[in-house]
Amino acid sequence: MKIKLIKVSKTPSDFEIKSDKITFKGFIQYDSDKLFRLNAEIKGSLPVICDICAEEYEMNVNEKVDFFVSNGLYESSNESLIDVVEAMDGEADLDEILASELELIKSDYNTCEKCK
Ligand SMILES: [Zn+2]
Repeated sequence: MKIKLIKVSKTPSDFEIKSDKITFKGFIQYDSDKLFRLNAEIKGSLPVICDICAEEYEMNVNEKVDFFVSNGLYESSNESLIDVVEAMDGEADLDEILASELELIKSDYNTCEKCK
């Protein structure tokens, strides 16, 4: 699902997308300058590899994400205190954002129930 940033206003636009057993739900709203705030939750279960026994298991995911999408290149004036994802074609690609968040979760140190 892609959201055209030009259509996003100060009124939050709700979205919800599903990918396998994961739901990505929240809103995007215009903030200031070229920036749009994205605030959402990632919930569900995700197959990950245990770092101890190397077995795959289903991990419960319940993550809040809160960052900004920039319409075009973002040049921070004050040593970037905020998280910014750059959208290069005027669209926020929610599937891609979700995929990269899930990659982050997978790359964390994960241990299955047996190894805890
Ligand atoms: Zn394990």
